[in-house]
Amino acid sequence: MLPIDEALQRVLSLVKQPLEAEWCPLEQADNRVLARDTRSARVLPPFDNSAMDGYAVRFEDGVPGKELQVIGENPAGSVSEQKLAPGECLRIFTGAAIPPGCTAVIMQEEVERDGPKMTIRAPEAVKEGQHIRRRGSDVEDGTLLVPAGTVLTPGELALLASCGHAGVLVRRKPRVAIVSTGHELRYIGEKTGPGQIINSNGLALATLVRRAGGEATQLAIVPDTKEAHHEAFDQAERYDVVLTSGGVSVGDHDLIQPVLEERGWTREFWKVSMKPGKPVLCGTLKSGAIFLGLPGNPASTMVSFELFGRPLIKALQGHPRPFLKQVRVPLGLPYPKRPGRLHVVRGTYENGSFHPIKKQGSGMLRSMSGISAFGFMPAESDLIEAGTEIITLDLRHEGGKDFSIR
Ligand code: AMP
Ligand code: MG
Repeated sequence: MLPIDEALQRVLSLVKQPLEAEWCPLEQADNRVLARDTRSARVLPPFDNSAMDGYAVRFEDGVPGKELQVIGENPAGSVSEQKLAPGECLRIFTGAAIPPGCTAVIMQEEVERDGPKMTIRAPEAVKEGQHIRRRGSDVEDGTLLVPAGTVLTPGELALLASCGHAGVLVRRKPRVAIVSTGHELRYIGEKTGPGQIINSNGLALATLVRRAGGEATQLAIVPDTKEAHHEAFDQAERYDVVLTSGGVSVGDHDLIQPVLEERGWTREFWKVSMKPGKPVLCGTLKSGAIFLGLPGNPASTMVSFELFGRPLIKALQGHPRPFLKQVRVPLGLPYPKRPGRLHVVRGTYENGSFHPIKKQGSGMLRSMSGISAFGFMPAESDLIEAGTEIITLDLRHEGGKDFSIR
């Protein structure tokens, strides 16, 4: 059985390089990873403009108490051709192009307006260039705007748009096939007969994959026969990643591994020293698809996806920080356990401590709802006292640079 961090390292070692770059309209580029250094095709602002609602003046005229002639108005979006002569000013608004001859803007709060005349009431002499935003002062032509590897946010998207881009080259989203195995499974909304349950793992995995930036496709439910498994893999192996749920333990009906052996594949590992999620199976299919087999118990499925699947999908997109944030906090309640396996405990942060929720069974779906963190209870520990510092994974915060439970 592999320790959890070694297993994760092995999963990530299967990503030889990030997926190709593809063009993406800015509207859809939020949270995508930029594939190329992207430069500006324009200067920003594109023209000298006013930073205030007020009056465009020649700065020499900007003397407190002086009266100026208002010769017109210049709202944003229009360009005035009138050149200011000495003693003249122009009403101007924020973002409007600075008219010829203007060398300063006085804000409207600092003047007294009376019809065609305006008197300067500024407390001191107007400075040359005041309240003028210069062409190119924000972004110069050809500047590197956003470096490759950046995870795009609304700020970068707005900057790219202003600088003349309509789209960018980003890493392609990994295409992920989700295969739910089990005779007992029925589709969401279907009636369940005796011994049958709803396939909730398929939905959980598809949603988790999409949140990680992948493109998820749920294939049909696979009953526990070798033929059905082969058929499912015929389809699934065309994807970048294949995620299966169930069928990876050692029961007579656990067919994933026997079927993969028949098809030919390269196993990376089977079994991780953790609870829940021990039987995780990982490798590469003949097609080159990366395979991650997750145990079927709902909490095991989701916990092992969060630990191995999410970083894998992020890494395929070239994500520079593919992990969740790790935080060391004191344990809020005592946690009894036996030495042996590492426990990945579901819980919440309360007043800076980690509180395990009560029912931690790997089959208990409630243990995955209303939680904000996983707490790692070291393999060798027995009872862990309240107040002991433990490592937690904050499920609400992405962007962790590495993962280590030491
Ligand atoms: P397995 O790993 O196939 O032995 O399944 C372990 C447990 O998880 C069994 O109780 C299954 O009924 C349950 N299970 C397996 N697959 C799913 C699924 N897709 N949705 C919900 N529960 C499942
Ligand atoms: Mg099963």
